[in-house]
Amino acid sequence: MLIDGCGRKVDYLRVSVTERCNFRCLYCMPDKPFSWVPREDLLSFEELFLFIKAAIDEGITKIRITGGEPLLRYDLDSFIGMISNYKSGIDLALTTNGYLLPSLAKKLKNAGLIRLNISLDSLKPEVAQKIAQKDILKDVLSGIDAALKAGLKVKINMVPLKGINEREIVDILDFCKERDIEIRFIEYMKNAMALDELKGLLGKEILEIIKEKYIIKKLGREGSSPSFSYFLEDGYKFGLIDPHKHDFCESCNRIRLTAEGHLIPCLYFDEAMSIKEAVKAKDIPKAVEILKTVLKDKPKENRWDNENGESSSRAFYETGG
Ligand code: SAM
Repeated sequence: MLIDGCGRKVDYLRVSVTERCNFRCLYCMPDKPFSWVPREDLLSFEELFLFIKAAIDEGITKIRITGGEPLLRYDLDSFIGMISNYKSGIDLALTTNGYLLPSLAKKLKNAGLIRLNISLDSLKPEVAQKIAQKDILKDVLSGIDAALKAGLKVKINMVPLKGINEREIVDILDFCKERDIEIRFIEYMKNAMALDELKGLLGKEILEIIKEKYIIKKLGREGSSPSFSYFLEDGYKFGLIDPHKHDFCESCNRIRLTAEGHLIPCLYFDEAMSIKEAVKAKDIPKAVEILKTVLKDKPKENRWDNENGESSSRAFYETGG
């Protein structure tokens, strides 16, 4: 079992397999970065898997593949297969923008993927295009259908933005309710790469908009999830991720690995340690030692950059959100 320096059990590893993305979402990667990490500096799937195996042996039971856009990385299904074949019972999930799912959903399911979170910020083609800076909606909706058809468990993520998609909160909730899939509204988090003038809605503002149509009941946090759950009167459940309230750090159970091999203990924390050399040398004891050092120093609470108004200096596309 992995226990961090604050006594929290850490059993959840998020792995960002690429920082590259085929969307340019205003809140994440509005401009193409000045340079991408060169492909030769990325860990191969075999190298990432060496670390993942060790992390599973040490007590990781939940793994989420993310990015950038993870489906851009060639042969992702074989990587999923490596993990799912290593140990049964691992909760294996993926976060994606859904654009490439029409051709990949079935392969991912066959490889052992269980769950998918798909970003859907608008049901209006022109608004979706404004946010992603690309005509995406038709493909994303086909991607959601393909995932459901393949038998994957789907959740939808939406980031409500002032003056852009805030009036669609209920429409997207209803879209998910009709399909019996859970939606999670995520408070926009200011970060180094996002568009400067962007403003998100706070959790309480999101709930106020939903209350214009529905009576909602508070359920609470489930386990270590950062998502706070609510019910509508008919039993439909939705989630809200509101990091501005800072109340989920005490049960944080996660650690992040980037495609370059940086182990990051917290999304709002600059420090990281690299497992790259250890993994390239196949020195697994060393990689595990680095994992334990990072966990020992995992901060007690979010360390936002408060000078810039609760901002993260890291790009979300690097850490995987
Ligand atoms: N490309 C995939 C996608 O679109 O879901 C995975 C990577 S994306 C960085 C992972 C999650 O981070 C998405 O749900 C996205 O909405 C969220 N995200 C990115 N930037 C964010 C921000 N500034 N504030 C809140 N959530 C953000």
